[in-house]
Amino acid sequence: MNITRPFGDTLALIGNTPIVRLAGPSAAAGCDIYGKCEFANPGSSVKDRAALWIIRDAEARGELLPGGTVVEGTAGNTGIGVALVANAKGYKTIIVMPDNQSKEKMDTLRALGAELVLVPPTKFADAGHFVHTSRRLAEETPGAVWANQFDNIANRRAHIEGTAPEIWEQLGGRVDGFTCAAGTGGTIAGVGLGLKAFDENIRIALTDPHGAALYNYYAHGELRAEGSSVAEGIGQGRITANLEGAPIDTQYRISDEEGLVWVERLLKEEGLCLGLSSGINVAGAVALGRELVAEGRPNPQVATILCDTGFRYLSTLYNAEWLAAKGLPVFDWLARNSASAE
Ligand code: PMP
Repeated sequence: MNITRPFGDTLALIGNTPIVRLAGPSAAAGCDIYGKCEFANPGSSVKDRAALWIIRDAEARGELLPGGTVVEGTAGNTGIGVALVANAKGYKTIIVMPDNQSKEKMDTLRALGAELVLVPPTKFADAGHFVHTSRRLAEETPGAVWANQFDNIANRRAHIEGTAPEIWEQLGGRVDGFTCAAGTGGTIAGVGLGLKAFDENIRIALTDPHGAALYNYYAHGELRAEGSSVAEGIGQGRITANLEGAPIDTQYRISDEEGLVWVERLLKEEGLCLGLSSGINVAGAVALGRELVAEGRPNPQVATILCDTGFRYLSTLYNAEWLAAKGLPVFDWLARNSASAE
């Protein structure tokens, strides 16, 4: 897309995000690591793409009619994307969210005009889980469709048709590796499938947080979770429809502490304020870059996703008391500021 010309409508602002070389991660890996700036979408996260594709798909299938309602269960970012796209198209939005997600996401959803339904965080097997609650609400609401981001593969099509060709073109048709974490799995599966269509030698790596079951699934064929993570929006315990057939070549398990190192360094050294899933992705990209360098690939180019803005986590990741309460290291400057405030 040519960004020197005006866009015809606001929905055209979704996608076509910039990609940036990350100096610190590139130095650490010994090759070029690139971050796809998904925080630059109108809703400040990668999930605007899935929201747009899912809503267009529901319209194309004749299920979403003028004045209708879109219902979704979400950790927050998909809800924000759905609310913005629905507003732009004249639909109403109902969002079901676990009540342990960041306050900023809840306030944002209310500010955008979504009807917000908070439920206690539970296991997927429980009937009250946010995903099942959102499906029931969609069934009970006249004129409503359920976005169903986990098992609706319009989600991953956004990345097959959008994110992957953008990365391929932006890196000059030479990509050696791609990695990111999975929430729905739409990004890793869609970008993986899309990039492999250009070059099947591109190594696709899953970067899994602690507390998710996918690392063990791809490494040992067994869905088993170990540990836990405070990262929002990632960490999956099952093979969603979006993950089915995902071309995962290798996998890494990254701790919150390892992810936070990159959140801190990218902010202090490169001026990017990001969420924890981005830090975890960058840690995975450094591991993938090192692996490709060690194998002797010449000047490998590795891409990952900078999923959302850190401004969404001012009360958590960027709050000294919250970090300390979670037993996580507190960034120096936060510790200083909170000490001087006392
Ligand atoms: N990071 C954040 C902050 C997210 O909200 C999400 C979406 N749940 C992801 C990463 C993962 O994206 P996907 O659902 O495509 O796997």
